[in-house]
Amino acid sequence: MEKLKRALHIDFHTMPGIHDFMREIDPADFAETLSDAHITLVNLFAQCNIGFSYYKTDIGIPYPGMKGDMLPDMICECHKRGIKVVAYINVGLNHEYARKNYGNCRINSEGKVIFGDTSGNFFRAPCYNSEYGEYLLSVIREIFEKCQPDGIFCDCMFNMACYCNSCTEKMISEGIDIKNGSAVYEFQHKTMKDICRKIKDIVPAGKLCYFNGMEWTDVENSHLEVECLPSGGWGYDYFIPRSAYARMLSDNVIYMTGRFQASWGDFGGYKGLHSLENDIQDAMLQGTQFSVGDHMHPAEGLVDDIYRDIGKIYRKYEKYERWTDGCKYISEIGIVINRGNFTNSHKGVSRMLSELKYGFDIIDETMDFSKYRLLLIPDDTVPNDALRKKLKDANKNGIKLIFCGRSGVGKDGFWADFIKDVVEFKGYDDTDNGYYKLKETSEDTADMPYSMYTGGILMTAKDKKDELASRVKPYFKKHWDGLQGYFYTPPECEDGYSAVILRPDFAYISFDPFVSYFSEAAYFHKKLVAKLISALMPTRLIECDLPSTSRATLTGCDNYRLLHIKATYPEPRGKVNIVEEPGVLPARHIVSVEGEFRSVKHLPGENEVMSKIKDGRTEITLPQISGYDMFCLYK
Ligand SMILES: [Zn+2]
Repeated sequence: MEKLKRALHIDFHTMPGIHDFMREIDPADFAETLSDAHITLVNLFAQCNIGFSYYKTDIGIPYPGMKGDMLPDMICECHKRGIKVVAYINVGLNHEYARKNYGNCRINSEGKVIFGDTSGNFFRAPCYNSEYGEYLLSVIREIFEKCQPDGIFCDCMFNMACYCNSCTEKMISEGIDIKNGSAVYEFQHKTMKDICRKIKDIVPAGKLCYFNGMEWTDVENSHLEVECLPSGGWGYDYFIPRSAYARMLSDNVIYMTGRFQASWGDFGGYKGLHSLENDIQDAMLQGTQFSVGDHMHPAEGLVDDIYRDIGKIYRKYEKYERWTDGCKYISEIGIVINRGNFTNSHKGVSRMLSELKYGFDIIDETMDFSKYRLLLIPDDTVPNDALRKKLKDANKNGIKLIFCGRSGVGKDGFWADFIKDVVEFKGYDDTDNGYYKLKETSEDTADMPYSMYTGGILMTAKDKKDELASRVKPYFKKHWDGLQGYFYTPPECEDGYSAVILRPDFAYISFDPFVSYFSEAAYFHKKLVAKLISALMPTRLIECDLPSTSRATLTGCDNYRLLHIKATYPEPRGKVNIVEEPGVLPARHIVSVEGEFRSVKHLPGENEVMSKIKDGRTEITLPQISGYDMFCLYK
């Protein structure tokens, strides 16, 4: 499939009662604005989460007072300008349908159709197992017939238990225990996968189709969109790990950020040019495409100045496409997960490795492990059988491994002989106030026991020289004894267990440094992991003296490598992190890239950059970088 580029996502959830609906909206002007901003793909409203259709429907409920045939007119004008249009439909929410068909709504465990915050969106939903299922499919069929879009974007594919009559009868007939919450949830999960399959059957061959909210590994998407408003609820640690997994599943990954300051629907919130550009730069560093989310005003249409800024950014990054087309992200470390099983520790490990400038993918048991030099298995990835086999094979083939906490433990202690041979499993430690003490300290660490912040396992090195850090127990576990709450729990003494083991072929950390890096950002955890990685993997793709706030990644193809350097980083302000202006890296930082490259060019101007080849690496002296820069390293 051709690469999707420079996308836009337009929300158009329109409440009833906009008396001057479409007052200033003209399909040709709309398409011209997109074209001027160099947008090539747009997700456009066929049906919103209120349940209104924006085309002349025979099945759905058209928005009252719609002029012309809104979506088909816009598609026609976009197509004239070479812009692809994907029809947006909210599959999970349809309030107009739901309020008129209460018998076809999801019913929660308390027997309620309406629950939660009724001034939000997710307080009522139609049920796929009711007549709504067929209704939805007929609407999607009609959208393709009447509007001729280039694909469909199915939104709000969220799972929730349903105790409506259709679901309950179906569950009972299938022998499902309706008192078992997780069985009921699983039944709905299966229902959702079924409805996705039925939708997919309607989508004409070659058209785009994305199910937003479904696990990527559960359904057949034509491409992947990582939805994330980083300054809103998602945070700046969401996109990187998701994209590191997405690019392993699809060649067409889009980072869908948004122009809003707070969240979707924030009409008056615009986070500004530099904040938007920061997200586009994050996409560039991960080798993905990008999309900006907007919400069109129902009477006035698009805000010109926002499209002025999107245009500025898209024109700027379009200039790099000559080099980026056909390039893939280059990694050296694989972060291993059970298929589709994402957790918070992936945010912590991704942040840590990004700060350390390592190239990494997130991979599961269905993927090729052979290209990695090192595999990292976080504590909450207790490998399934297929993954264990792959990890054992990786060890045999000389790939280095780092285990954390439970990731090496099966039913009867450690699941791999190569671990059992050198480490004894002694049980679990579920308290989070343990400590570890490094055998050797350096100038940037202190000679003191460091807090683990998580529980983990109890283990001992059979040979003490494999022990990189010992475990130090606190005087007390945190507890209430009826007289005192034991909050102050200083380290007492080593308790004979090992906290960290380092062997030539693997390392084992008894706790979870990654989930706690996400919650505590402990600098000393990062130093520890960096020490283990450099011991196991002495040569690396990028070596540099850049600050931890900057980022450096490599993408590439057969003939050249692209070095991406990012200087901008979000700053915490109040409760959120924001970007207001580009960060600046002074000139003369040195970045050494593995491989011998005869020429290094600063893109897109192609000015030669000072570089020298030394011991199989290329040392590049960077110019001053404002925000972001890309360099091409020619072989
Ligand atoms: Zn139901």
